[in-house]
Amino acid sequence: MVRVENLTFGYGADGFRLRVPEFSLDDGERVAVVGPSGSGKTTLLNLIAGILRPDDGRIDVAGTEVSGLSDAARRRFRASRIGFVFQDFALLDYLSARQNIFYPYRITPALVLDDAARDRAERLASACGIGDKLDRHPGGLSQGEQQRVAICRALVTQPKLILSDEATGNLDPDSKARILDLLFEQATEAGAAVLAVTHDHELLPRFERVLDFAQFREGATA
Ligand code: ADP
Ligand code: MG
Repeated sequence: MVRVENLTFGYGADGFRLRVPEFSLDDGERVAVVGPSGSGKTTLLNLIAGILRPDDGRIDVAGTEVSGLSDAARRRFRASRIGFVFQDFALLDYLSARQNIFYPYRITPALVLDDAARDRAERLASACGIGDKLDRHPGGLSQGEQQRVAICRALVTQPKLILSDEATGNLDPDSKARILDLLFEQATEAGAAVLAVTHDHELLPRFERVLDFAQFREGATA
């Protein structure tokens, strides 16, 4: 599902540099990403999602070399193929929760907002406990509720790759477990692979593999 080779990326000449010699994620595989704050976890997710472009090396997602696509093509590819739960949610304030969940359909002609998609959104929202809050705007929702909207938006298109950046960070322990259940249940249903950054060490046993980020620091020897 994901193959990263000889990747290097830097924020400007003097900024943080990330080097990933090799990383891959199989179809349907569930991998947790851990590492200290500032070690480049979000940067790697952004590179895989095609939000950032590598300086060198290549990234393939579902058989497409995303690192070789134009900006517009990468945006389309991401919206139709990847579900991304951003660390800061990235909800649009001027849209209701429901409109935020349907946002991938707005920006991607290839995705059709049909009855099945509407049903899916309602079911996801209910399962997340925000079914009665879909007409509210993000400003009228708590952090945890906003996070759930972001999760519904990432799952509604049934992507084959789910990238999750501390999706359970703002939730209480019960909700964390429930949201992960939902994420995995949806992943199983869609046959999706999951790459999830998490600081919740009690959740790690639920993943098939843990990727420790300390090794990717430019200059790291491990
Ligand atoms: P993590 O998610 O592991 O906490 P990040 O990938 O967000 O780490 O950041 C890695 C490093 O890159 C940090 O030192 C951060 O300050 C830096 N960084 C992140 N985003 C930018 C940016 N847009 N411009 C310059 N530096 C950035
Ligand atoms: Mg981060």
